[in-house]
Amino acid sequence: MTDSDNTGQQVLLGCVADDFTGATDLANTLVQNGLSTVQLLGVPDAETAVPDAGAVVVALKSRTNPVREAVSQSLAAIDWLRRAGAEQLFFKYCSTFDSTEDGNIGPVAEAFLEALGADFTIACPAFPTNGRTIYQGHLFVGAALLSESSMRDHPLTPMTDANLVRFLGQQTKAPVGLVGFETVAAGAEEIRDAFERLRAEGTRMAIVDAVTDDHLRAIGAACADLALVTGGSGVALGLPDNFRRAGRLQDTGPADFVPQVPGPAVVISGSCSPATLAQVATMREQCPTFGIEPLELATGRDLVAEALDWARPRLDDQPILISASAPPEKVREVQDKLGVMAAGELVERAFAGIAKGLAEAGVRRWVVAGGETSGSVVSALGVRALRIGPEIAPGVPCTVSMDEPPLALALKSGNFGGPEFFFEALDAMP
Ligand code: ADP
Repeated sequence: MTDSDNTGQQVLLGCVADDFTGATDLANTLVQNGLSTVQLLGVPDAETAVPDAGAVVVALKSRTNPVREAVSQSLAAIDWLRRAGAEQLFFKYCSTFDSTEDGNIGPVAEAFLEALGADFTIACPAFPTNGRTIYQGHLFVGAALLSESSMRDHPLTPMTDANLVRFLGQQTKAPVGLVGFETVAAGAEEIRDAFERLRAEGTRMAIVDAVTDDHLRAIGAACADLALVTGGSGVALGLPDNFRRAGRLQDTGPADFVPQVPGPAVVISGSCSPATLAQVATMREQCPTFGIEPLELATGRDLVAEALDWARPRLDDQPILISASAPPEKVREVQDKLGVMAAGELVERAFAGIAKGLAEAGVRRWVVAGGETSGSVVSALGVRALRIGPEIAPGVPCTVSMDEPPLALALKSGNFGGPEFFFEALDAMP
């Protein structure tokens, strides 16, 4: 960013997210609600400059770390955010409350309360736009209870209890309470009164019911004086308005301003989710495409060098696609032969090498499909900070890196976006 982009906005909201695309999703919600936002990758250190933005989201990869590691990384992140001036802290986790009975949501939230000297917070993963709602403390995914949704079979964090009061209670020492639907529907003042009653009873955390965005806005308003708010990206909807009402937010320009980044464009796809498969099928009909075949990589074939030789002469013409995406039966075949983790790592390493080589060849605009794939590409590119721009599709903003030279990046988790997403993203990054 140049000095002319400087709006002088002080950091108001400091956020810690337990995974990379979750952080981007939260940043997108904040920007959509008028709070300029910068996303930092990993725990910032003393050298990291405090961005000129109303919110800073620190993206960790701590969801499935051992509890102690997740807590210490998260504490280091809020320590930096408080020094940067953040007046309120937000702990972001998945809208399906992805965690195990041992943690990490409860322990990280408790550690934050202690560090802040605070005695009460909420836990509200609801995200109605994506079908995640909470009623009587029970989390629903669409019409199904969380425990009867596909999350029941998640390989790392199987969610077998939809009762969040009970489930969070297993992760924390202090009792967990509930602010139920009737109170939430009655509005911000009633919700704030309920917080006070629970606090007086010694409750440190409360699950809060929410079925609509209006509920989330009322909950957000009721949280104005809390030092810490925890939840999914949905409950962040209402937080920028608190700063606006308090006269702390300078609405001097659009919150989603990012500079234009000219230069060659590439789409990298390592997601095998259905939405991505449709996007790859659409783009390969119209643009040059290079396929990454994991079984070939496993033989030692240097597909990184081959992809770069293929890509370099094409960069100035039109966007190109480099894809490992494959349908479930092909992925299973690869995983049976190589192992699930090994197959993933092999492909991610290849993409990291390709990304480095393409950056050296002058690529400046990147569309990346896949959460893990995005993580490996962004770290290969050495990106440490992203300014969040306009939304391309629900949950996916256009971003621009704050390093030199600036890179435009659209980072998409697997199932986001319609079949034309890659072209929409390229159009949004002119
Ligand atoms: P999503 O957001 O859809 O889950 P990710 O990038 O997070 O996408 O995860 C996809 C994983 O699958 C990555 O580890 C990637 O390297 C791996 N992968 C990509 N293509 C293949 C393939 N053809 N066979 C096996 N694994 C693959």
